[in-house]
Amino acid sequence: MTARILIVDEVATNRIILKAKLGAACYQPLMAADGRTCLQLARETAPDALLLATALPDLDGMEVLRQLRADPVTAELPILMVTADPDPAIRLAALRAGADDILTKPLDDAVLMARLRNLLRTRATLAELGRGGGALQTLGLAEAPAGFDQPGQVVIVTARCDQALHLRREIAALLGLHGRTLTPDEALAEAADDTRNHRATDLFVIDADSGGAGAGLRLMSELRSRAATRHAAVLMLLGQPDPAAIATAFDLGAHDVQPWTTSGAEQALRLRALLRRKRSEDRLRMLVQNSVQMALIDPLTGLYNRRYAMARLTAIEARARETAGRFAVMVVDLDRFKSVNDRWGHAAGDMVLIEVAHRLGGNRRAEDLVARIGGEEFLVVLPDTDPFEASRIADRLRRAMEALPITLPCGASIRITVSIGLMSGGGPTGPDRPESAAETLERADRALLLAKTSGRNQVIQGQSAA
Ligand code: GH3
Ligand code: MG
Ligand code: MG
Repeated sequence: MTARILIVDEVATNRIILKAKLGAACYQPLMAADGRTCLQLARETAPDALLLATALPDLDGMEVLRQLRADPVTAELPILMVTADPDPAIRLAALRAGADDILTKPLDDAVLMARLRNLLRTRATLAELGRGGGALQTLGLAEAPAGFDQPGQVVIVTARCDQALHLRREIAALLGLHGRTLTPDEALAEAADDTRNHRATDLFVIDADSGGAGAGLRLMSELRSRAATRHAAVLMLLGQPDPAAIATAFDLGAHDVQPWTTSGAEQALRLRALLRRKRSEDRLRMLVQNSVQMALIDPLTGLYNRRYAMARLTAIEARARETAGRFAVMVVDLDRFKSVNDRWGHAAGDMVLIEVAHRLGGNRRAEDLVARIGGEEFLVVLPDTDPFEASRIADRLRRAMEALPITLPCGASIRITVSIGLMSGGGPTGPDRPESAAETLERADRALLLAKTSGRNQVIQGQSAA
């Protein structure tokens, strides 16, 4: 969908020029000539970003900004302020009031467009992550994972000692953080080393001019392409802040681009905003990861759950069908487990389930699937396994359970046995072949029932025909 940009400027010609530029770049421009119209349109038309002039006829631009940030509907809207006033105090006020950035007129087209693309990209990332996170919040599962209250980790990348020292002092004084300094080569080497703990760096401050023209940009591209450092925020510091260089830095993925001459107070606000954003992205990313895990993993045993197991079984069956390969399905059910609960209590029962899961998981090849598909019922799927081999494996599992008693926390030792229904799938086409993964599982279930009714602690091979 085309991004919609709300242009807020009292001068008609400014609006028209910006409208033409945004239209040419395939954005959909919306327009407001004063603060009140801006507030109303921002609420009602849900634009994707806002270009807000500081001087407006009715309300002060800063006041409009504050109201937008205070309203939950527009609080997260990307806002780029535009000012004709070069006073540094205006820039500080705008950043403090929550502007994503402030550009001073005359506007450079390339910088404006690159900054806008950059803000829209950030917004899209947050929206994507936010959908997963939002669902979890609804479920009350959006607890912040541990470790999110630590201060940010800042790495300064420069080969110039004087600059490094200056920056380290500034960051310590402004943010109370102790940045590490690396040369560009060291930063790359760390990013490439996947034995390191890579949640470590939250923010890279890169000296664009260290190591020759374009070296800083190349380094940033590298950092953004490595799994280890891909999510870190990047502030690029330019010696010569010409518009083309600024635009390129944004387009290559810098989150902020500043000249070295930016005042310490402004730099501090910018660094803080970058760290805050990075942290909230991390938090959302972690929530999404956790939610995927919760959807697929049984929390008691750590094995895959039924939902995942069925999807994997279907895929294994489909592959066997394509390649005329064989696979085997085992349904493993604990014998008289209810009596374990009855005699030793539910917590002891849980411990037994965990130990059984551990034994099943420990006895498998990397490609085998082990899942908990019911209370005391497990599924093992063996791809590329013929019926003879499968039956050998099933019996080995059964004996492994029987042979080694399980010690309960109270010191008692109990012997657990399992019954196994085994069904082979795949192989040559024929009337006997199960129609689907579900049918294969059904026949294994029937075999299990037979194992139960005919004495337990045994493996029964399912019938090829129903
Ligand atoms: P059978 O040999 O016929 O399989 O007998 P059984 O007692 O194992 O089977 P039944 O289906 O009668 O009972 C299953 C028991 O498993 C009942 C239930 O309390 C217990 N169970 C199911 N899920 C859990 C669990 O998560 N923790 C514990 N401790 N027990 C569980
Ligand atoms: Mg049972
Ligand atoms: Mg059962």
